[in-house]
Amino acid sequence: MTSPRRTFAIISHPDAGKTTLTEKLLYFGGAIHLAGEVKARGANRRARSDWMKIEQQRGISVTSSVMTFEHDGITFNLLDTPGHEDFSEDTYRTLTAVDSAVMVIDAAKGIEPQTRKLFEVCRLRSVPIITFVNKVDREGRPVFELLDEIADMLALDVSPMSWPIGMGGEFEGVLDLASNRISRPEGDSRAFLGTVEDSPALSERWQEEIELAQIGYPAFDPAAYRHGDLTPVYFGSALKDFGVAELIAALAEHAPAPRPQPAEPAPVAPENDEVTGFVFKVQANMDPNHRDRIAFMRLCSGTFKRGMKLTPTGHGKPIAVHSPILFFAQNREVADEAFPGDIIGIPNHGTLRVGDTLSERADVRFTGLPNFAPEILRRVQLKDPTKTKQLRKALDDMAEEGVTQVFYPEIGSNWIIGVVGQLQLEVLLSRLEVEYKVAAALEPAPFDTARWVSAEDPAALKDFMDLNRGAMAKDRDGNPVFLAKSAWEVGYIADRYAKVRFAATRER
Ligand code: GDP
Repeated sequence: MTSPRRTFAIISHPDAGKTTLTEKLLYFGGAIHLAGEVKARGANRRARSDWMKIEQQRGISVTSSVMTFEHDGITFNLLDTPGHEDFSEDTYRTLTAVDSAVMVIDAAKGIEPQTRKLFEVCRLRSVPIITFVNKVDREGRPVFELLDEIADMLALDVSPMSWPIGMGGEFEGVLDLASNRISRPEGDSRAFLGTVEDSPALSERWQEEIELAQIGYPAFDPAAYRHGDLTPVYFGSALKDFGVAELIAALAEHAPAPRPQPAEPAPVAPENDEVTGFVFKVQANMDPNHRDRIAFMRLCSGTFKRGMKLTPTGHGKPIAVHSPILFFAQNREVADEAFPGDIIGIPNHGTLRVGDTLSERADVRFTGLPNFAPEILRRVQLKDPTKTKQLRKALDDMAEEGVTQVFYPEIGSNWIIGVVGQLQLEVLLSRLEVEYKVAAALEPAPFDTARWVSAEDPAALKDFMDLNRGAMAKDRDGNPVFLAKSAWEVGYIADRYAKVRFAATRER
């Protein structure tokens, strides 16, 4: 019997406490099992040394990408989302590989821009969200104000599950609303050290506030949560250990197990015997002497076994997965296997790309892994014209990894790259120089946004492309892309060419 899976990610704005909460989840979850700390035996040891070799030789860090822990008979897979102000498609796509998310909010700040962006991605896929309002040990905003902000800004029902009794200097603990038990701060640290009190005597002020809360917000409805219409809200302090055990319990009790995944010709249920999965992230090495990558695959159905042959749909021959990186939990008996909801790291030489489906029989294709329209476009200027080939290779490679998107204009040789965050531009330039020995500069492009174009009627698409050749480009897969000077121009052009579809995302 395999244990139930909970595959989830944490979404937050930088500084809200994601790292601290991650550490505490691993700690309270019973074990900090980063892949490197696994005590290995037999085949298990072989797997361990495989990835250690990969990690050491290539100087990459795969350990923190997936963190697995087992608690009360449930296996939790926590997928890391890179935590920069800026984020790449990697972050977006990681959210396509989870079944639920925890949204961490700083009690003093409320909903911040990045929380909101990541939330929108979750909503696109109806990923259910549990909210954790962090840092109640410090002065925060009034609780009602925070709850109303979540409800209003995210258009979501909120259901408080616990209530902070004061914050900052007034902080007296966190009350669990269902059980009427309070977790108390203790000692000099004012941390939670295990003291829980039943039906505490609270002052009138708190009694009133809690009564109001219970009338003012809907009761928790598991079905609404799973549809992504309601979020249960927990209050706590990752730093001082409040609310962390409750959060794990909530994930165990309410968060969905792996669900059927959208695919063609039909959705794939986890109970399906055939092994299937999709690549949601590709991580390149940092060591310029090695060109290998790790493709992270989310297993959607079947029981994966080491050495199994899987075929990437649409391109390529079957590949035997001899050295998968499995993110073991310590007590897993059969560590050479992985189950739906688990993540497998597959070392490869660039054959596997983000969005690829892998399966035993190669007759399914997972859908819904979107490419997002870039928000920043730049023209790449090569300083040494003899390096054209290297530049093309580098841009293609980085596009595959999801660092950037690349567009090859129909006219002219000025390649254009697109990113969703400023930081990616710096990463791109530095990697071009260090890994590919290509000196390049980025200059403003005459375009502001990109749209993938398509049409039912091939003649209509051709007409459009012929008449707008100066603004047409191809993405790295050869799909036609219209480069526009502004979002306004997209609207204007779309009105004039009613038969052409202009998409801000492209599903792979
Ligand atoms: P991340 O950027 O979201 O990963 O945030 P970190 O976990 O690195 O936390 C940012 C800062 O907030 C650090 O200085 C933490 O020590 C602090 N912090 C995190 N959680 C809490 C909390 O519950 N209470 C207080 N007072 N500080 C916290």
